[in-house]
Amino acid sequence: MTIPTYECDKVNNKLTFHCPLCMKVHTHGSEEGHRISHCNNSDYHPNGYFLKNKGKQNEIKISLDS
Ligand SMILES: [Zn+2]
Repeated sequence: MTIPTYECDKVNNKLTFHCPLCMKVHTHGSEEGHRISHCNNSDYHPNGYFLKNKGKQNEIKISLDS
């Protein structure tokens, strides 16, 4: 059984995504990582899912190692 990863938007400091299985928007806390499913049908994600902050890709980080 694989655990899916969903790319989330951060709205009001909460990770939200549109669930392709129950077709609803799920809202979780601000931290990425594994979550228990918010679907009303527990068969959709019996092992939960991982959340990833989509916006993070746009953050530019430059490390200066000199
Ligand atoms: Zn769902």
